[in-house]
Order: sequence, then C-alpha cells, then structure tokens
Amino acid sequence: MKKVEVLKDGKRIDGRGPLKMREIDVKLDIISRADGSAKFSFGNTVAIAACYGPRLLLPKHLQEEKGGIIRFRYNMAPFSVDERKSPGPDRRSIELSKVIKEALACSVFLEDFPRATLDVYVEILNADGSTRIASTNAASLAMASAGVPMRDLVCAISVGKIDDTLIVDLNGIEDNNSEADLSFGMLPSKDEVVLLQMDGRLTKEELLKLLDLAKENCLKIYELQKKVLKGKYGVEDVE
Ligand code: ADP
Repeated sequence: MKKVEVLKDGKRIDGRGPLKMREIDVKLDIISRADGSAKFSFGNTVAIAACYGPRLLLPKHLQEEKGGIIRFRYNMAPFSVDERKSPGPDRRSIELSKVIKEALACSVFLEDFPRATLDVYVEILNADGSTRIASTNAASLAMASAGVPMRDLVCAISVGKIDDTLIVDLNGIEDNNSEADLSFGMLPSKDEVVLLQMDGRLTKEELLKLLDLAKENCLKIYELQKKVLKGKYGVEDVE
C-alpha cells in the first residue's frame, strides 16, 4: 500500500507547521439539564461533555464511605466518522473511558463527597484524531463549570513523530500514519502527569522532547480553559 504523504516541505496536510495545534474552540454550559457542560474542539475533532452531581450513588451497596466515585463514559457518535460507527460500547471506548476517568479522578477532592457519584459523559460529535484528548479537556471544564471541588483542571494534548519530525496535536490521518504518538494529560499547577499513553517507537531523546512539547502546549490549553471559566463568572485576569 502506498504510504500517505503527511508532511511536505515542512507543512502538514492541513497546512500547519509541525508544532502548531489546530484551532481550539471552547464553550461552556451548552447542555441546560447538566450541572456543568462544555464543548472542546481541536479543528474537526469535536467533543461535548456533561457533568451531573456530585449526587447520591444508588443502589446503596455501590456507595463508598471514604469518598465519592466518578462514573465516566466516552462515546463516539455513529455519525462522527466517515463510515458509520456501530453504536454502543466497544473495547476502544471502554479503554478510553477508563483512562480518562482515572485522569479526571486525580483532579477531584473525591473525599469531600462520600457515598456520592459524579457522572460525566462525553460524546464525540466529529472525530478527526485526538478524541481522547478533546474529551479530557471538555470533561474537566464541564466538571469545573458544575462547581465540583477540584485541585486543578486537567489539560491534555497529543504529540507524536512523523517522518522523523516531532509534531503536536495529531489529526486523524496523522494518527493513522505516525511512527509514534503519545497522549498526555496533566494538572498544570501541581506539575503532575495524570494521563500518559504511547504507541510506536521513540528514542529516549525524542520521548523527552515530546514530553516537553506536551507540557508546553498543555499550559496553553490551561490558559484557554481558565479564560472561559473566568468569563463565566465575570472574573478579570489579575496580573
Ligand atoms: P484518539 O481519537 O484519542 O486519537 P485513536 O488513536 O483510537 O484515539 O483513534 C484515532 C482516530 O481514528 C480517531 O480520532 C478517529 O478519527 C479515528 N477512528 C477511531 N475509531 C474509529 C472508527 N470506529 N471508525 C472510523 N474512524 C475511527
């Protein structure tokens, strides 16, 4: 099979330079029934998240005395990809739900709400690479917007390597043709990594460089997330 040319004269298929993220669009409170909700998109990858709770977990035998739990569901809508995706959970969505939930759980003071659950749902409306990343950013914003007690926001980004070039924010074609890709999430104010998955092969130097790039771009996403949250509450930036 002919290899797809994803990098030409230093430019990517969508015209970006290697280290440029796609355009990011963030909106809060798009689902009126939810306690908090958000949309987060990287170019054509669009995730919406809705957060309900913390609320009493039922049935009772599932309750945890020492703290609340998070129930998280990642789902790709059947119309989010070219070929209809069959509805319902599959191995991939079960894995993504687990890793994103664990990343989000690191950010929440779960001990503050024993016997409760925080229910967070993400729907991918349009998938063009890095959907777990857009989901994580959307979910964290939805939780913050719901007023969940949190240590920090979770910020996430994908990085990778194509034709020996390191790139940031992989789209779908890049994801399918990369030599390596890495999904990364962190709590910026704690400098704590909460999501790290990798596919492919990298040298130690490349990995360290990609981790630096991931952190650098997470900080940009952090600023955007804070800006929309401050906008919601009418808080000015204090320098
Ligand atoms: P992520 O979206 O987090 O990068 P994957 O690496 O599993 O997760 O998927 C990469 C991309 O492949 C997705 O963003 C999407 O564009 C595409 N993709 C994933 N699952 C499907 C599917 N069932 N049908 C068509 N495209 C898919």
